Amino acid sequence: MPTRIVILGGGTGGTLTANRLRAALAPASAGITVVDADDAHVYQPGLLFVPFGLTHPEDIVRPRRRQLHDGIDFVEAGIDRVDIDARTVHLENGTVLEYDVLVVATGAVLVPEETEGLTGPGWMDDVFTFYDLTGASALEARLATFDHGRIVVNVVDMPIKCPVAPLEFCFLADWYFHKRGVRDDVQIVYATPLDGAFTKPEASKALAGLLAEKGVELITEFNTGEVDGPGRRLVGYDGREVPFDLAVVVPLHGGAAYVGRSEGLGDELGFVPADERTLQSKVRPEIFVIGDAASVPASKAGSVTHFEGEVLVENIVRFVAGESLDDSYDGHANCFIETGFHKALLIDFNYATEPRPGRFPGPVGLPLLKESRLNHLGKLMFQWFYWHALLPGRDIPGVGTAMPVAGKKTEGVS
Ligand SMILES: Cc1cc2nc3c(=O)[nH]c(=O)nc-3n(C[C@H](O)[C@H](O)[C@H](O)COP(=O)(O)OP(=O)(O)OC[C@H]3O[C@@H](n4cnc5c(N)ncnc54)[C@H](O)[C@@H]3O)c2cc1C
Repeated sequence: MPTRIVILGGGTGGTLTANRLRAALAPASAGITVVDADDAHVYQPGLLFVPFGLTHPEDIVRPRRRQLHDGIDFVEAGIDRVDIDARTVHLENGTVLEYDVLVVATGAVLVPEETEGLTGPGWMDDVFTFYDLTGASALEARLATFDHGRIVVNVVDMPIKCPVAPLEFCFLADWYFHKRGVRDDVQIVYATPLDGAFTKPEASKALAGLLAEKGVELITEFNTGEVDGPGRRLVGYDGREVPFDLAVVVPLHGGAAYVGRSEGLGDELGFVPADERTLQSKVRPEIFVIGDAASVPASKAGSVTHFEGEVLVENIVRFVAGESLDDSYDGHANCFIETGFHKALLIDFNYATEPRPGRFPGPVGLPLLKESRLNHLGKLMFQWFYWHALLPGRDIPGVGTAMPVAGKKTEGVS
């Protein structure tokens, strides 16, 4: 009988895993089923551009089914729970799927209702998020009429998807209001729970410098306890208050709700503990985890999901064959950081190495930790790459799982 592989989630990780597995395993040896609650695959990095009118919702959404290669079954249904002892997935429509191998790829979900007041009065009037399609579209309309006052961009707490996206929002807001000729009338503030602009010291220094250069005020170690919409202020747990005319909030993130209903599957946040180098879950050997759903010390980012995918698929093939697993995922992550005025920065790092200056992927590649037009073009091109190379599971020469070191400066970096 063919091995029954069930993949939960048809987003970035679920789709690329299914396509890579289909190429690696013949249909006679493995059946592959992908489950997702809907048939709308959102290119999430595009959400950053929607509020500024630089892209539109219809340009960043495609049907999930069409991203999956022939020979992969797609089930459109919500997941109710997983029984890890019985090796079954219970769907909300009553269907029960049996599996030999399970891949958890259900990402991270936004839980704005967990922050007092966030979804209360003012939500979608003066308080927005750009982290989903509804919020990003509503914010576009609100920004278009905003010509003076104080915008506060706030991360409620970590972990969040793409930790640089709120910084990119600040940089683009600076560009957007300049372009509209009202920058002097708009204050931009970035309030973060971190002790700097970003998590990694070297990148944090560079990004804090850019915020200052662009006149964006940085408020650190701010833990949002309450969003007071009518009073237009964020209230921190330490009693500090941050007034706003318009708040752009990145809400708390958690694992998908069904994880909490699946005894023994997840941690207290709903993420699934996994070995950080093999991506095999710590819960059961036949359960693997990819992307934002995984509790591993890597960033929650599409690039991480992409790089994890190569090792994960190799390990599922090895697991099915009864072989020992490949432990080569090194935490590789990279990210274009849009900085406005048609420029972007690029960072590349892994579990052991923080972002360094230099070039990527080799000595004559894109500049690292430095603004450039080339990086901006890279950021724009990434959408094509996402639909046509990353999701179909194509290998990209020079850009693979292992973090390249050839172009990186390793000395003389303070
Ligand atoms: C604003 C923004 C900007 C970003 N920019 C970048 C960037 O520039 N670079 C980068 O690398 N990354 C970026 N990311 C992050 C990137 O999009 C994610 O890290 C990546 O999509 C994670 O892939 P995933 O497969 O783990 O999760 P997802 O792609 O989110 O897929 C999870 C899937 O699970 C499904 N699901 C969840 N629960 C259930 C359920 N109960 N039943 C059925 N289906 C369910 C969902 O419908 C979804 O399709 C950004 C994210 C955001 C929000």
